[in-house]
Amino acid sequence: MADQSFTMTIGGKAVAGAASYPVINPANGELIASAPDCSRDELDQAVTAARAAFPGWAARPIAERRAMLIAMADAIEANVETLARLVTAEQGKPLALARFEVGFLTLWLRESARMELPEIVNQDDGERRSVTRRIPLGVVAAILPWNYPIGQNAFKFGPAMLAGNTVIVKPSALTPLANLKLGQILRDIVPAGVLNFISGSDGLGEWVTSHPGFDRISFTGSTRTGRLVMASAAKRLTGVTLELGGNDPAIVMPDVDVKATVEKLFWAAFVNSGQLCLATKRLYVHADIYDAFAAEMADYARGVVVGDGLTEGVQLGPVSNRQQYDTVVGLIRDAQDKGYRFLTGGLPDTSAAGFFVAPTIIDNPPEDARIVQEEQFGPVLPLLKFSDVDDVVARANGTDFGLGASVWSADVDAAFAIAQRLQAGTVWVNEVQHLAPDVPFGGLKQSGLGTESGLAGLLDYTDAQTLTVKR
Ligand code: NAD
Repeated sequence: MADQSFTMTIGGKAVAGAASYPVINPANGELIASAPDCSRDELDQAVTAARAAFPGWAARPIAERRAMLIAMADAIEANVETLARLVTAEQGKPLALARFEVGFLTLWLRESARMELPEIVNQDDGERRSVTRRIPLGVVAAILPWNYPIGQNAFKFGPAMLAGNTVIVKPSALTPLANLKLGQILRDIVPAGVLNFISGSDGLGEWVTSHPGFDRISFTGSTRTGRLVMASAAKRLTGVTLELGGNDPAIVMPDVDVKATVEKLFWAAFVNSGQLCLATKRLYVHADIYDAFAAEMADYARGVVVGDGLTEGVQLGPVSNRQQYDTVVGLIRDAQDKGYRFLTGGLPDTSAAGFFVAPTIIDNPPEDARIVQEEQFGPVLPLLKFSDVDDVVARANGTDFGLGASVWSADVDAAFAIAQRLQAGTVWVNEVQHLAPDVPFGGLKQSGLGTESGLAGLLDYTDAQTLTVKR
């Protein structure tokens, strides 16, 4: 792959960039390719192109904008394999999951294309007609994390473009390649300047959020960076949507089918090697079934194949980058130093070339353990014991995060009653991580601000404008 060249898409054109930086494969530590390191001047060019394209794009009939989303979905579908292989190379996940991720984007594009922007008649009588409609904001910055480099776009440029905005996508510095390829695929279809893709090393995010040319920052990433984004955008009162970190609890009641629930919750926690905002990150199991559940889960974990995502049969890839690997290894080391018991896994061989960590399950650590209170964002899971519902609800709600949560029980009504007490943007009963293009999604507490998907997500890319005629 080293012979491939990757360019930014600015104003419909390929821009190689004055400088570049290396992108590394987390499965073997090797160079995949170089990515352009966007300069301030190139960022200005992208903003100028997006601003110039905005009035024309916003003025197009919405039917044309809908058709564009469908055409983009078709073009992406024709390139699933190329995009998925790049995602696996730079992010690490198994190829099948990378293909699913690309399909997630095309599904969202197709479904976003069907959405309507509401118009509300406030008053319509002999005195006046007053209507509130939704108008686009202008230029949207889409700042993406590295865990689902292509999939995260599903919440960003489709709905933003449908609403009439133009967009600049800035993928994570660690995973720019699939997005640069996406720009290359779409640049012949989308009018120049409407959808731009830039890449750069760490400083670029701050340049974007402090740039006066953006009308909305749609950010997905860590809570820590989310705060910096909001502070930076506040200087010009630029609106922000923040989809941030999580520490999702799952609560398992004693009446579940243990074997079936173990398999579902194993994948809820370890999919994409735990690097999912909505991964189950704390698993509370009722004391009556705790030992059986723990034994079954450890058994299941031992059978899971960890390796290079491009290898057939691999179920979990490496941790995606050096920084995250160090975080995960630090949490495992802390658990070991504190003397917690490991049901499976443990410290990896840190001299290996790839960032591989076997699924690691920690046996009932104390509630104030780092692995319980912090977002691990990796293949390490604390299994926690409870016997009282009030106690487990308090513990589940006992972090600053509020992204997702789930409750598992044969008694759906009882589970639903618990679900209503949990502080999270989405709470599932007997399933987890189910998202749909027409269902709003967002975090409570320190997990975010604003909404993605659904009508609420679409409206986040608009302003309300009231038009009044006196009769
Ligand atoms: P991160 O915060 O390190 O980076 C996210 C993006 O911000 C990247 O594009 C990065 O280059 C950019 N960035 C870095 N510093 C910046 C700055 N000062 N100003 C502006 N942008 C800056 O997050 P990450 O490590 O890429 O992603 C993992 C985190 O994202 C986890 O906490 C995870 O839970 C969260 N996440 C949340 C959701 C959600 O929908 N709520 C989805 C996926 C991931």
